[in-house]
Amino acid sequence: MINNSPIIHKIQGYISYIYLAEYSEKILLLDSGCANDARVIANFCKNILKRPITDIKLLAVTHAHPDHAGGAARLRTKYNIPVAAHRDIDLWYANLTGFIQHKIDCFLAQFVRFRIHKKFKPVLYSRFLIPDYELADGDKLPGFEDWCAFHIPGHTLHDLALYNTQLGTLYSGDCIIHLKGKLNLPLPSLFLSKMKKTYKKLSRLTINNILPAHGEKIVDEELKDVFDRMIYKTEKPRNETNKLIHLLFIFTPQVWKRHFRHIKSWIQH
Ligand SMILES: [Zn+2]
Repeated sequence: MINNSPIIHKIQGYISYIYLAEYSEKILLLDSGCANDARVIANFCKNILKRPITDIKLLAVTHAHPDHAGGAARLRTKYNIPVAAHRDIDLWYANLTGFIQHKIDCFLAQFVRFRIHKKFKPVLYSRFLIPDYELADGDKLPGFEDWCAFHIPGHTLHDLALYNTQLGTLYSGDCIIHLKGKLNLPLPSLFLSKMKKTYKKLSRLTINNILPAHGEKIVDEELKDVFDRMIYKTEKPRNETNKLIHLLFIFTPQVWKRHFRHIKSWIQH
């Protein structure tokens, strides 16, 4: 390790990739995967890193979805790992409609699991994260000052991207999907104008590589215009199927309250 820069490890989680930043004296966990991934992370530490899982001194959660925040409660309860997330994360699944959205999202996680031919494992988890550290845009991660959290709304209103200033590595969470060499917007992309601003903001960083939660690492040639290509995608009109699919995600209070008056025109555009 040069200048105590971390070594980044990638774990194939139940649905998403999970990343670990390993230092000589500590480990940072970037998202927790699904509820059933807590055991996968523990096994990775034990069998691959040959280190106790308690060396993980912080779990940074990018957003509340089941494949990112699902394992957090278990990791905190079982191994005492503190959790950092955006300060508004627990607004996402608040109230009765948030409860409904949470159940829909867990069901959709199982649907994705079925589509990628994985065996059934439970993904249910507490819908409230209650972070030990509440983060705002530009905050450094507690105990990991070489990592900066950027607020990147678009997929949800509380998404974070995590940027290592030494390596120029951006863990982009769900704001970029990069499967089979193709860039895509995440599903849902509920706030397209915010998403566009997010990409413009990230494009100003000095980035050597991007680690998406879904898909392959983005490096070299693809880095040059990645954000321009994502911005272009936010400007394309939604097709009918995409509009219908987005109706599955409108139960979150922060979504339906925002769109209540305009929901008809929102569906039509
Ligand atoms: Zn997500």
